[in-house]
Amino acid sequence: MNSKGAVVADVIVIGGGGAGLSAAAEAARLGRKTILLEKNPSLGGSTAWSVGSISATNTPHQLSKGILDTPQDHFEDLETLAGNYANRDNRALRRILVDHTNEMLHWLMSVGLVFVGPNPEPPHRQPRMHNVLPNSRAFPDRLGRHCRKLGVDIRLTSLAERFIVEGGRVVGVVARCNGRQLEFRARGGVVLASGDYSASAELKGRYAGEDAAKLEPVNPTATGDGFKLALDLGAVIVNGDIVRGPIMRFVPPPRPNLLQMLPPHRWLARIMRWSFDRLPPNLLRPFVMSFLTTALGPSVDLFKRGAILVNKDGRRFADELDKPGRMVPLQRDREAFIIVDGRMAREFSAWPYFVSTAPGVAYAYLEDYRRNRKDIFHKSDTIEGLAKSAGMPAAALADSISRFNAGGRLQGGERLALTEAPYYALGPVKSYVVFTDGGLKVSERLEVLKENGDPIDGLFAAGSAGQGGLLLEGHGHHLGWAFISGKIAGRNAATRASTLGS
Ligand SMILES: Cc1cc2nc3c(=O)[nH]c(=O)nc-3n(C[C@H](O)[C@H](O)[C@H](O)COP(=O)(O)OP(=O)(O)OC[C@H]3O[C@@H](n4cnc5c(N)ncnc54)[C@H](O)[C@@H]3O)c2cc1C
Repeated sequence: MNSKGAVVADVIVIGGGGAGLSAAAEAARLGRKTILLEKNPSLGGSTAWSVGSISATNTPHQLSKGILDTPQDHFEDLETLAGNYANRDNRALRRILVDHTNEMLHWLMSVGLVFVGPNPEPPHRQPRMHNVLPNSRAFPDRLGRHCRKLGVDIRLTSLAERFIVEGGRVVGVVARCNGRQLEFRARGGVVLASGDYSASAELKGRYAGEDAAKLEPVNPTATGDGFKLALDLGAVIVNGDIVRGPIMRFVPPPRPNLLQMLPPHRWLARIMRWSFDRLPPNLLRPFVMSFLTTALGPSVDLFKRGAILVNKDGRRFADELDKPGRMVPLQRDREAFIIVDGRMAREFSAWPYFVSTAPGVAYAYLEDYRRNRKDIFHKSDTIEGLAKSAGMPAAALADSISRFNAGGRLQGGERLALTEAPYYALGPVKSYVVFTDGGLKVSERLEVLKENGDPIDGLFAAGSAGQGGLLLEGHGHHLGWAFISGKIAGRNAATRASTLGS
């Protein structure tokens, strides 16, 4: 603490998700006094909400299966994944991403994280997806321990409220720590790793439009605070209109399920990895399913095969084959139900028809929902009984089904009438924004840039905050970017501290 009562460090990191923890670990490894401010009472952010997939090349997992892969192939496959958006990608940052995935995975494993894989995800030309065990809470758990071991001063319930700027240079942060306002001064730099703005109606409205603004976020604390602080200093958001959503997902269960309650300890992860390699998938299924039926959304195949979507009044409100998720937020309580019949229930009990999937991990069928999600699973021999169970007017539901049956087959060819008892309703489902892809414009050193390309002295950004126009299509690239960009930003802030002399 200096004579004016400010806490002084070399590097200050805002945010304790994947990017912030990586930045803090790197700065501390380089011998710099590092403070990490996290507004929530626990570490993790969206990183701890994630599925936990990371796409990487030349990993021990790939090599053990004889898969030869290259960062260049990964770079090209990302171009394919980006499709029509490819020209909006920041290819310089993409290059950084693909060139560092191998080093990143080795580093994560060195701090005790355990992965299974690689799993295929076309159009990736090689299986590249690795999944963390036992769940994504292992990231903040292991990285938090690692940071503490390196001496990082982690302050929870500490909300960064504004930057301290002197002579055009960011020299610190004012934060509210457990209700008390404190000043933190950084001799080297401040790393902004404060996540995305999926929970900010204001930023979603400004960059992605009013429809996006109305959507609920998966992570309600992703309020984009860091963006607002940086915009005040002349920073700019790139690709702010790109949001992952609306995506329909089942509402979360009232209580955490088995997998969510598992402590993310290394021993458990190792046992699970051993089991994944050796045990028949059937034995592991109950564990994996308790996750799969919690966090994920319904497959579009449900609608292609004939499922209809009704609101709480029992009424259809959208063409189920034309992005129905856009209409869900306009229904009562922003909720909807998926209705299927006995024929579809049989179809959706085995591959290729599944209700939900974590790509590359497993598939959940209707029976998995009956077992794991009794709160959203309704079944009855009659439409009246189903309506009663799901809490909607029976006459309206019966009318919706019979109107669909009269004309439904005209839509989408494969859609068949819902005539066979028993009838099922899955829901409520809601439409969510999973994450936003707008990031602050950054240099390849992860310095935050103004519109004209000049860096804001002393300010770095990483992860979602420092996404810089990088498209991260497919699965497993957002987490990769969080860890990789975090380390680079932490290193550059640390180096700046030594250059300026501490
Ligand atoms: C449901 C879901 C599933 C996903 N699955 C995957 C996946 O499998 N693979 C993948 O690659 N990506 C996935 N993603 C995306 C990925 O999780 C995120 O892009 C990534 O974790 C972002 O990391 P981050 O460190 O930038 O942000 P976060 O992990 O969100 O961390 C930001 C932290 O900053 C804190 N913070 C914010 N403002 C302040 C402030 N003012 N002061 C102090 N602290 C602050 C927040 O509380 C938070 O802890 C998923 C996302 C979601 C929501």
